[in-house]
Amino acid sequence: MQKILFPLLLGASIACFALWAFDKPERAAAALPMLEKETHPTDYFMPPVAGGIHLTGTCGELRPNHYHAGLDIDGVTGNAIFAAADGYIETIKVQANGYGNVLYVSHPNGYKTLYAHLDRFTSDIQQFVKNSQYERERFEVELKPPDGLFKVKKGQQIGYLGNTGSSGGPHLHFEIRSPSGKAVNPLLCGIPVLDNIAPDLRDMKVYFLNDHREVLGSKAFSLQKDKKGNIGLEGDTVRIGGARVGFGVKTYDRSNTRRNDNGVYSVALFADDQLAFKWTADEFDFDDSRYLNAHIDYATRQRYGAWFHRCFTLPGDFSGNYTRTETMGAISLRMDKPTKITLKISDATGNTRKLNFWALRDESATETFLSAPYQFLFPFDGENHLDLEGFSMTLPKGALYETIQLQYVADDDKSNDVFSSMHHLHDERTPVHKSFDLKIMPTRLPAALRSKAVIANCNSGKPDNCGGTWQGEWLSTRIRTFGDFCIMADTVAPKITPVVFAADMRRKNTMAFRILDNFAVAGTADNLRYRGTIDGQWVLFEYDKKRNRLSYEFDERVGKGEHTLRIFVRDDRGNEGVFQGKFLR
Ligand SMILES: [Zn+2]
Repeated sequence: MQKILFPLLLGASIACFALWAFDKPERAAAALPMLEKETHPTDYFMPPVAGGIHLTGTCGELRPNHYHAGLDIDGVTGNAIFAAADGYIETIKVQANGYGNVLYVSHPNGYKTLYAHLDRFTSDIQQFVKNSQYERERFEVELKPPDGLFKVKKGQQIGYLGNTGSSGGPHLHFEIRSPSGKAVNPLLCGIPVLDNIAPDLRDMKVYFLNDHREVLGSKAFSLQKDKKGNIGLEGDTVRIGGARVGFGVKTYDRSNTRRNDNGVYSVALFADDQLAFKWTADEFDFDDSRYLNAHIDYATRQRYGAWFHRCFTLPGDFSGNYTRTETMGAISLRMDKPTKITLKISDATGNTRKLNFWALRDESATETFLSAPYQFLFPFDGENHLDLEGFSMTLPKGALYETIQLQYVADDDKSNDVFSSMHHLHDERTPVHKSFDLKIMPTRLPAALRSKAVIANCNSGKPDNCGGTWQGEWLSTRIRTFGDFCIMADTVAPKITPVVFAADMRRKNTMAFRILDNFAVAGTADNLRYRGTIDGQWVLFEYDKKRNRLSYEFDERVGKGEHTLRIFVRDDRGNEGVFQGKFLR
């Protein structure tokens, strides 16, 4: 591959030495909204399952691009799921991914509860859903039954535990939502869990910050456990070559009845016994959930899969889960006197783990950080544009958590299936909060492929189709990640493979097919759409996206005799795969 730097960029390619032996006054912490915390009822809701709550996921647990908004309750497919309080079924959704089969129950106190990944609903609800699916000729539906149609009593069964949607095994995903629409930690609402085990502290990191609270680099410190299970650092004083630092921890909680690493409830940091930072998993605003990417060490997560809670906030992190303090966790260290650092990690039932040590600024340990050459400086607190040869993007205000030194290089990629330069836009390990517009101009796209052209993200392995619409000579999409982008074309139809299908289906209850496409989708690209008919009539094929599986359960609609099945599957660029077959019933 040949690297071509745009001439206008060459002069700006600066090696930046970030030396940070400065003692500037602390810049004011980012303006965080002061949120009035609601108090929640503790004796209103009952557990939605029988036989005790066994957690495989907690509220506020760190998940890709979001905080987990509820509890994951372990169980067996088919277990009864109960309404947690009196109310009525407000919304029913059926989704190929996400929550799968999900019920929202509205309660007279203004709260809602949500029950997701259900295998199925109780028969009256199930029949209502199936009728609506046939009416609309769609598997995925969102239904709002009239208020009085499905009234429920506290403890009444509403469904069966399952594994539908984006679920990694049978469990109930249970949420409690406040009247203002926030996800409230159900463990604060009296949902009982047996847990007398304190959170575990696995790793600690020190982040070196400049006077704008921006991270220059980091260093890991190993933790040790003594025979009593106390966690400490080797030696009680760490010498740190920096004037201003933040800390980060890898920490998990466990309850008594499942050996599962769950999320913790709060992470607090004290400097000389003063609260400097506190993050709490008490409630989550769905619009803010992506600030998780600012709270965690995103690059470490992308590179190594490790989840670190930052114990300081980045300048562009406006999440409501922090307690307001003067420093927001950016600690100024002294050379003449060590600072006492206390990390206090708690679970929602009040078990607490503490780590104490002293941090001393040591000039002899001063670190030098060399940043990679970069072409553009993108401030976090403004809108940023790039308008270059064949490439254009607009990053809205609020898309970045900190000011970045943006790297951009274009390659002339000679691959047969690439129809533009390869645009290397910074680094996929830098998080982006908001979607942004990205446009690429093709360099050698045959006219016949214009309607099949897509913006492809080639970050790793197979490229993703990010969609694209033509604006004159530019192909344009909206995405939410940095990385490598180019124009490719999708001319390949999705494949439909029979899994359970034969000429004689008289002894089968269901038929099933695998549907696969050549590109995964991202950005504005659409997921696969499909339609299944028997003798020309639409029939309900359920779609399990995680298994790429379509299945049809035989019912009274298909009588005895010979029938013709047709399945059509269409991808984002209109390529259509067809399966046709005759079977006997
Ligand atoms: Zn869940």
